[in-house]
Amino acid sequence: MTEVYTADHVLPVGAPPLRQGAVAVQDGRLVAVGTRSEVLGAFPDAQVEELGNAVLLPALVNAHTHLEYATYGGFGDGLPFGDWLMNVFGARRPRLAPGDVEAAAALGALLCLQSGVGTIADASYSGAAVAAASEAGLRAIVHLEAFGGPDQDAEDVVAALRERLAGVAGSTTPLVRLGVSPHSPYTVAPAVFAALDAFAQSEGLTVMTHVAESPAELEAVDAGTGPIADALRSLTSVEATGQHPVDLLAGAGLLHPGVILVHAVQINDAQIALIATSGAGVVHCPRSNAILGCGAAPIAGLRAVGVPVGIGTDSPASAIDFDLWAEMRAALLTARVREGRPDALTAEAVLELATLGGARVLGIDGLVGSLVVGKRADLTAVDLTGTSYGVTESAATSAVFAGSPERTLLTVIDGVVRYRKGADTERLAACWAAALPGRTRMIGTDD
Ligand SMILES: [Zn+2]
Repeated sequence: MTEVYTADHVLPVGAPPLRQGAVAVQDGRLVAVGTRSEVLGAFPDAQVEELGNAVLLPALVNAHTHLEYATYGGFGDGLPFGDWLMNVFGARRPRLAPGDVEAAAALGALLCLQSGVGTIADASYSGAAVAAASEAGLRAIVHLEAFGGPDQDAEDVVAALRERLAGVAGSTTPLVRLGVSPHSPYTVAPAVFAALDAFAQSEGLTVMTHVAESPAELEAVDAGTGPIADALRSLTSVEATGQHPVDLLAGAGLLHPGVILVHAVQINDAQIALIATSGAGVVHCPRSNAILGCGAAPIAGLRAVGVPVGIGTDSPASAIDFDLWAEMRAALLTARVREGRPDALTAEAVLELATLGGARVLGIDGLVGSLVVGKRADLTAVDLTGTSYGVTESAATSAVFAGSPERTLLTVIDGVVRYRKGADTERLAACWAAALPGRTRMIGTDD
């Protein structure tokens, strides 16, 4: 069976856009990408879906999520970074009841699909994202989070993580892999971080960590002082390392291919060069960085020296929602404001970061991220009808500026339609209804 999807605009990424384009899919794999007449001519018996005035493009790659924080929107808004962490995760998260985390993660997975996302890289505190991604049909790497202060035995932390990985392994699908997330250099002591990294490398797992996000993190890691260190001291001992977190990781040999650095906001040119030579990738989360007042990551500088860069929404806990279209626009705006020039990040470039760039960061660019014959059939489409881009000059600009969950027509992963506008309205409502009681508990109005 062959399925053909046609659209007024096809944006393959890495190749020029096609007017009146089409793709053909067999057994979950792309077997043709070309003009409508070429593809329909080659597959006359195919089942054809006409998407009309839309941009058909590779399914997006959301390179940093926390699905289980889908209902955390707005908590602690406006607080300094350390106080925000303690408000959301110290005070509110313990109010959740059994089942809340799973319901939120299931909602988060569906919201990603609704935003045209085919692949996520999640950092999961509870592990609930594994089942959520699997049940949604997402392609995913779910990194289980680990923490460990300087007074904790590194091998104990690794043993606990190994047990948790084994506990969720049964919930994976062929599209869902596991990874390791030492949360951050401010919550994971160097010796513990090194042990987790060694374990990940021995198992062939990717490593995701939050690094150089806020000025308060730099002070906590360097001097063991400041608001983050003060907040953490109530939970664990805090060690002054005398180093910037990127210098610390690089010096310990903990930056290498397969390491995914989330945020990388507070870095200088020397640290950009360290990341570039290490082979590690960076995930840019501009809305989270803006909302928490952390700054604007030097994306133009990282790209200029060839660092693989992807884009992530982080989660509603710090970044409003899982809308990767909005995140793309934020990345474009942030780069142009930071650099003071309009070509700092073009629409074509930001779309590349949200597709092939993210796939490179995750090491799956041979599989997904662009519409190339032989790659897996991960697709999405943005409806341009009723927007300023309804008559289109540039497919990339139109997709980036007009894209939204409401205008996402469908999301196809491995050849299977996993989300379809209209058809999934009741499913979305049911997911929201299941997840919101947890939010009510976090607000505390039920006690
Ligand atoms: Zn995060």
